[in-house]
Amino acid sequence: MDTPTHSTNRSPVKMRIKHHALDCVMCGICVPHCPTFALSQNEADGPRGRISLALGLAGGTLALDAGVVAHLDGCLTCRACESVCPSLVRYGGLIDEVRDALAHDEFEPAAANARPRAASRRWIWLRHYVLSQRQVFGAIWTALFLLERLKLAPMMRRFGGRMGQILPPALPRRFRPSAIKSPSPAPEAATKTVGLFIGCTGEALNSDAVRASIKVLSALGYTVEIPTAQVCCGAMHQHGGDIFEATRLRAANRTAFTNGNLSAIVAIGTACAGELQREPSDVPFMEITDFLAQVPADRWPQLQPIPARAAIHLPCSQTRVLKQPHSTEQLLERIPALNRVPLATNDRCCGAAGMHVLMYPDQADALRAPKLEEVKHLKPDFVVSANIGCATHIAVGLGTAVLHPVELIANSIG
Ligand code: SF4
Ligand code: SF4
Repeated sequence: MDTPTHSTNRSPVKMRIKHHALDCVMCGICVPHCPTFALSQNEADGPRGRISLALGLAGGTLALDAGVVAHLDGCLTCRACESVCPSLVRYGGLIDEVRDALAHDEFEPAAANARPRAASRRWIWLRHYVLSQRQVFGAIWTALFLLERLKLAPMMRRFGGRMGQILPPALPRRFRPSAIKSPSPAPEAATKTVGLFIGCTGEALNSDAVRASIKVLSALGYTVEIPTAQVCCGAMHQHGGDIFEATRLRAANRTAFTNGNLSAIVAIGTACAGELQREPSDVPFMEITDFLAQVPADRWPQLQPIPARAAIHLPCSQTRVLKQPHSTEQLLERIPALNRVPLATNDRCCGAAGMHVLMYPDQADALRAPKLEEVKHLKPDFVVSANIGCATHIAVGLGTAVLHPVELIANSIG
């Protein structure tokens, strides 16, 4: 008999899954907070149902089939359930382990059609060779930018499939890290150096936020370093059934930011910051909104008033992973005359959820709908969000740009 040890009920990953899942007392308090349960009203699409499925799979009492996988796969990893759980079940870690186990055939029968969608060849290829490769993404962006300048944008949105549909209303100009010297020229007052983590989207989708971050950090007297050896934060891998690769990427980033002079490593993007913070580091990994909100008042230049209304969207990664629900408001408080309005729907995931926006378009669009309604009703001058995935998903629905908070600060510096 040659049953592989990783397929037995005693495999380490199954034991970890059981260990976490058995903390759940099945009270159901989390269920009404779950956005996917709210959509389908199916218990198996909520946290308690998913934990029961995980327990059955890990204990060998539940047969694996495509339906079971679909319920587990539909989870957004928004962690709304975890944040209200009185038993402190670590649901986020549990679902990542379950997906990893599914992707690596830890549960029997290991049917080819019973894998998370993110573990299919198509999505692995996209994640591995395009979305997580900053330069590849950047090069594609340059081509798209040219097409837009040639007035071919409607064509690429129409014929580009889901990828075309999720392109933002206006494509920002590409940012190239090599275009600024590392370290960047420091202003006279510079006293500290920070490393800037720009993520896979930093050359393309999020390039305006990168430029704004450099401007604001420089104005505050920081020298900015952007190591070109930095790689993807690994969030897509962590939540898509490839924890091994996510761990490797985090280690590579630690190596990329080894300059002993750094006082902090600042990440643009709440999801990236949350992922990078999994690893212990001598230099703190911080999210830029939170970092800037903590800069003492005497270090700030006089900001110009912006007499406008800004609707604040809070990404789940900011409120439930980083646990910093107030940093955007605290930062934007510095802009005179700016009226800040947090969205009432901030307790619900917008549906972007990393690669979910690509893999589950109907669910993503249904979850976004109440937010679009709220914004349309509020009629703000700006919508801000500290996570590029959410910002882009909402911007596409609104047909207008959604800014990173640091872009508003940069505008206010003048
Ligand atoms: S995860 Fe927590 S809140 Fe949800 S059913 Fe289990 S114990 Fe209750
Ligand atoms: S992480 Fe979000 S989508 Fe997943 S079960 Fe919890 S509340 Fe529901």
